[in-house]
Amino acid sequence: MTLKRAELEKLAGDLRGEARWDEPMSRHTSLKVGGPADLFIVPADLADLKGAVAKLDAQKIPYLVLGGGYNLLVRDGGIRGCVISLKGIANLDPLPGARLEVGAGVVNAALCRFAAENCLGGIEFLCGIPGTFGGALTMNAGAHGGETMQRVETLTTLKEGEILVRKSAELSYGYRFLKLQPGEIVVSAKLRLEPAERRVIEERMSGYISKRSGAQRVAFSSAGSFFKNPPGESAWRLIDATGLRGKIVGGAQVSEAHTNFLVNRGGAKAADFLTLAALVKLRVRETSGIELEEEVKIVGEG
Ligand SMILES: Cc1cc2nc3c(=O)[nH]c(=O)nc-3n(C[C@H](O)[C@H](O)[C@H](O)COP(=O)(O)OP(=O)(O)OC[C@H]3O[C@@H](n4cnc5c(N)ncnc54)[C@H](O)[C@@H]3O)c2cc1C
Repeated sequence: MTLKRAELEKLAGDLRGEARWDEPMSRHTSLKVGGPADLFIVPADLADLKGAVAKLDAQKIPYLVLGGGYNLLVRDGGIRGCVISLKGIANLDPLPGARLEVGAGVVNAALCRFAAENCLGGIEFLCGIPGTFGGALTMNAGAHGGETMQRVETLTTLKEGEILVRKSAELSYGYRFLKLQPGEIVVSAKLRLEPAERRVIEERMSGYISKRSGAQRVAFSSAGSFFKNPPGESAWRLIDATGLRGKIVGGAQVSEAHTNFLVNRGGAKAADFLTLAALVKLRVRETSGIELEEEVKIVGEG
């Protein structure tokens, strides 16, 4: 049953952006599973977002912020309350001194293209990581030795109606995490980049893309690496040693191409992924004594 329907209707009515009811989250996640969100909104801009979040906070209605949904497993019962897509917060503004201000809703590929066109290097590693820049900041996404937070000068968030701007030195972050307070929303960041030739930046990016298409030739929908690499270990190697490569539960499978990718072979339910992930963790614990930790964020009702 929809949580606080009347209050959500008021919020949807006041919004300048889009609002959809009972929106299947399987449409918004790369794993293509997940039940409906009571209300799914796309605020038009930062002011619209602030207005919506103020109403949600005042009514104590829970909300989930959505980037591109490339690192998200939504359970089959869906999400009570509101899902907020930040697609409308997509500013990309050059600043003096090889710096850029980037909105949370900017897609990583668009950011990389813009940086190359403006001869700004240092963010090339992000070019093959699917999702939004807000998601990349929140996950401290990384590849090829680079991590998103390394390039951040200041981070701007929305928390309890206030805009907070913090320097990266004031933030706590590490391998695939950035510490945020409950309900805190990343709205943008200022990046410090390096002047570089466009040709050099583009060559670096195409090198990364071709490396990725070799290592991650996965034919089915996934959320990328399902588990974090434990210190000094590779999750894929630990999983491979259990013999679970290719293991199928319902419509979910341990990828035959990359054992740390759990893929949707078609028609999977979130419950299939959860059962398969639990089996992987159990077998890895039995064979190596190591406890794998999910990189994918698991949300919603069962
Ligand atoms: C094929 C494939 C390859 C991948 N390769 C890599 C890789 O090389 N390196 C890597 O690090 N990741 C990789 N990923 C995982 C994924 O692309 C990253 O984690 C990405 O940063 C997720 O961004 P998103 O916008 O899709 O976030 P989402 O999946 O939408 O959200 C992820 C989490 O962040 C929260 N969140 C999102 N935006 C905000 C915000 N603005 N404020 C507050 N919270 C927010 C969400 O609530 C959720 O908890 C891969 C995924 C796929 C499918």
